[in-house]
Amino acid sequence: MLGMAFWQPPPRVCVGKRVKPSPASATELDLPERRELALWTHARLCTEYGCPVAFFATKDPLSELISSLLSHRTRNQDSHRAYQQLRARFPTWDEVRDAPTNEVEAAISPCTWPEQKAPRLQQILREVGQRCGGPCDLEFLADLPIPEARAWLELLPGVGPKTSAAVLLFSTLRRPAMPVDSHHHRVAQRLGLIGPKVGEAAAHKQLAALLPPDWDAQQVYDHHEVLMFHGQKCCYFHTPACGRCPLLERCPFGQARVNGVKDEQEAKG
Ligand code: SF4
Repeated sequence: MLGMAFWQPPPRVCVGKRVKPSPASATELDLPERRELALWTHARLCTEYGCPVAFFATKDPLSELISSLLSHRTRNQDSHRAYQQLRARFPTWDEVRDAPTNEVEAAISPCTWPEQKAPRLQQILREVGQRCGGPCDLEFLADLPIPEARAWLELLPGVGPKTSAAVLLFSTLRRPAMPVDSHHHRVAQRLGLIGPKVGEAAAHKQLAALLPPDWDAQQVYDHHEVLMFHGQKCCYFHTPACGRCPLLERCPFGQARVNGVKDEQEAKG
């Protein structure tokens, strides 16, 4: 992806101590402060990783829905391989729906839990057809208000807020709905954009409420992508590299961590 291609870690000190997330000050900011912090974070990370970020997918919405379901708790390269194999074996979604389930399972074997995902995919394809009253590629979601489009998708089995947002944003619909993955969620929590007990599902509404309502799909996509990149490349789960982080000055988790290391060194020295 564009932002990933030229990003190089700046040569700053890496603080490598493993710590637990600190609840300190994560919920102390009021809404206007968190909105301002979200925009500041966006600007810093866009400078770091490069915006606009090129969209990585050009799938129609139904294909994006299937792709998102295959990617659940699966490495990108494995879910990509599962998707490609499925498309090669069954050229149309109607064929996937009507195929023997064990053949669908075999086609998606590179992803996790193919034995659960195969019947789930077929169930979803049947329900989409029933609810649309016939062949349906989900293009009609372009004409619904975003909350209604998400609610429609989330009535499907196994579809939550991350998948519904991914279908609207990543597919050719290109609508401004923001998914929150585990990297995005972790960075937002450590910065104090959301509280320490807010889970990934609940974070979708809270983090979306921090963004300007008139942001277009590219801006929403950039925001999600740069937070995700940051979680992948700097704000690691176990040993975040706070010493080279461009967000350190406003990150309570990073400040506590860096100062904790300094205090430890002073106590020893
Ligand atoms: S300072 Fe940066 S790397 Fe460290 S916890 Fe905060 S956001 Fe993550």
